[in-house]
Amino acid sequence: MRPPVAHHHPARGASRRPSRFLIVEDEKRLAVSLAKGLTAEGYAVDVVHDGLEGLHRAGEGAYDLVILDIMLPGLNGYRVCAALRAAGHDVPILMLTAKDGEYDEAEGLDTGADDYLTKPFSYVVLVARVKALLRRRQGAGASPVHVHGDLRVDTAARRVFLGEDEVTLTAKEFAVLEQLVVRAGQVVSKAEILEHVWDFAYDGDPNIVEVYVSALRRKLRAGLIRTVRGAGYRLETGR
Ligand code: CA
Repeated sequence: MRPPVAHHHPARGASRRPSRFLIVEDEKRLAVSLAKGLTAEGYAVDVVHDGLEGLHRAGEGAYDLVILDIMLPGLNGYRVCAALRAAGHDVPILMLTAKDGEYDEAEGLDTGADDYLTKPFSYVVLVARVKALLRRRQGAGASPVHVHGDLRVDTAARRVFLGEDEVTLTAKEFAVLEQLVVRAGQVVSKAEILEHVWDFAYDGDPNIVEVYVSALRRKLRAGLIRTVRGAGYRLETGR
């Protein structure tokens, strides 16, 4: 087997980017429907169908959450989880199990899983568990509320206010804004936004980002998001 991947990424500071998930699930229909649902919630989702591939990708350290099936080709979920923890990764792991009784809770917790769900589960329950895991992790970090002048973005509640008025954004608009707001004052490239807001399989036109930035300018304020020619976008922090 491939040894655990132990890349150590420098901490990205207190800022948060939009949450990025990895789904490791060999039931392709289930994997695809979960990915679709979570993408619609504004998360960026990658999917792999094999335990070794899952370990390799999760080991690269770019994920905020791993949804991990137990019975997998290549390497089972328990082993994937144990290898990630042994390599020092603290990413929250939600395990999926095919039927009641397959999952040994003691073993799961022992290998370092944070939570588990028994199939079939309702999508609503999955989303609730996912949000709880993300909150638990955020609780230890920086405040989820970002204030810049009259703009206030609550990345936990996923709400945006301009002065006293709440601004309603679509999931993708919110995800693009979040990417800019957590790095306010810095230039964020189109490629970075694409990478974090759309999943790795997206091979469409990077100009899609412009469409969302235009929408944000319309809904918020024209001068709020500056285009830095040839480099990307910057959320202005002045008032
Ligand atoms: Ca399976």
